[in-house]
Amino acid sequence: MGGGSVGVTASDQKPKKKAQPARCAICSKPVDPKYTPFCSKRCADVDLHRWLNNSYSIAGAPADDDAAADGSEQD
Ligand SMILES: [Zn+2]
Repeated sequence: MGGGSVGVTASDQKPKKKAQPARCAICSKPVDPKYTPFCSKRCADVDLHRWLNNSYSIAGAPADDDAAADGSEQD
């Protein structure tokens, strides 16, 4: 007795995946480790700009700047 932890070894087996070369999220070229997950600084910049544009449009959507300022200065 005392083999309670024997079953754990079964779940330790994982399907071995071959390390596939990751692809650039922008242009699908093989990524450069320096710029992972992108193939180059250019693609990293492209993604960064996309991301920034997204967050800007989200932040800029509710134009409540005036309302907020108005609410804090009620006389
Ligand atoms: Zn790329």
